Amino acid sequence: MRAPFEQRLHERLNAAHAAGRWRAPRTLEGAQSPDQVIDGRRVLAFCSNDYLGLAADPRVAAAARAALDHYGVGAGAAHLVNGHTRAHAELEADLAEFTGRERALLFSTGYMANLGVLQALLGRHDTVVEDRLNHASLLDASRLAGCRTRRYRHGDPEHATALLEASGPQHSRLIVTDGVFSMDGDLAPLPALAVAAQRHGAWLMVDDAHGLGVLGERGGGSCEHFRLSAAEVPVLMGTLGKAFGTAGAFVAGSRMLIETLTQFSRTYIYTTAMPAAIAAATRESLAIAGRESWRRDRLQSLIDHLRRGLTQLGLAHPGSVTPIQPVILGASGLATAMAEALLERGLLVPAIRPPTVPEGTARLRITLSAAHTEAQVDRLLETIDRLLPQVRRACPQAV
Ligand SMILES: *Cc1c(COP(=O)(O)O)cnc(C)c1O
Repeated sequence: MRAPFEQRLHERLNAAHAAGRWRAPRTLEGAQSPDQVIDGRRVLAFCSNDYLGLAADPRVAAAARAALDHYGVGAGAAHLVNGHTRAHAELEADLAEFTGRERALLFSTGYMANLGVLQALLGRHDTVVEDRLNHASLLDASRLAGCRTRRYRHGDPEHATALLEASGPQHSRLIVTDGVFSMDGDLAPLPALAVAAQRHGAWLMVDDAHGLGVLGERGGGSCEHFRLSAAEVPVLMGTLGKAFGTAGAFVAGSRMLIETLTQFSRTYIYTTAMPAAIAAATRESLAIAGRESWRRDRLQSLIDHLRRGLTQLGLAHPGSVTPIQPVILGASGLATAMAEALLERGLLVPAIRPPTVPEGTARLRITLSAAHTEAQVDRLLETIDRLLPQVRRACPQAV
């Protein structure tokens, strides 16, 4: 007889397994790169967020190594105690400049940045108005903040406006959206959301985890893409573990915003600062990302190449202009079987299924990097073309 606690966990684990929702990490040998060995198998990966190919850049690693020699490994304390080194201060100044904001503040992860911003800015009577398909960390952030939460239909600024109008102007209102949505790769309608926010005395916050470094001529992200000013997007959150290839996150904005977060954001105050070596490495990757615009050009040409190929194969793919390229297959079983068949041929492409995405839109989620080659994209296209009819035949229930 199992104890009740154990019994309950046992049942939940069994249910997750039976529902085909079992999750487990694979083990990667060596650096992040398109060609990799994972779980002992050589694969070509189309699933990382290393959009500019900087995660394993030798110059970024060298900057980390030099800082390790100078600072050691651990920061030793929180920013507000004595863990905030010269490297952190310099990175914050660089991030403020890169994003065209007065100041920037580092957080240890993007998840924590989102929790910390909403908790610091909003109280019980305040309202967050957010896109239904926002990243999980933003959905969790509004719950932790304990504020009123209103969710608008995906990418629908009119619905967002209606929700703003229905919430009283006597309290703070914050519209919150991903800049680039992580499952479809589509862009948020930022110009319309900025107008709605300004018209109603609300603020707009953009989580640009997938836009920074990638969109805009200088890699300034969704805001640069839409030419939105700091006044139109007063709260900009970015992560450092995606296009910038390191780890951590930041929030950029006015002096007053950054002071508010410094005083009140619990995920900033009560955690150890990121290692100084990561900050120093990020300064290097930020400089490279800004300067080497060929990485964005290369990525864009791979995106165009993949999209043309998918169209030629007659596959449904939404109009994403970003490195996140979903291929909609429909049934969960088909998406899973296809991902497994691709893996057998040495191609790592994840299947994304409900409830992560709406029913009937299970998909392969391809992500591209400037480190991919056109030949590698061709190999992916050819393999999908060859396997899809076989896989469809093999799972006739999955139509
Ligand atoms: C990855 C991601 C985060 C979380 O960032 P981490 O630094 O990985 O914790 C937050 N928001 C979005 C939209 C993301 O894609």
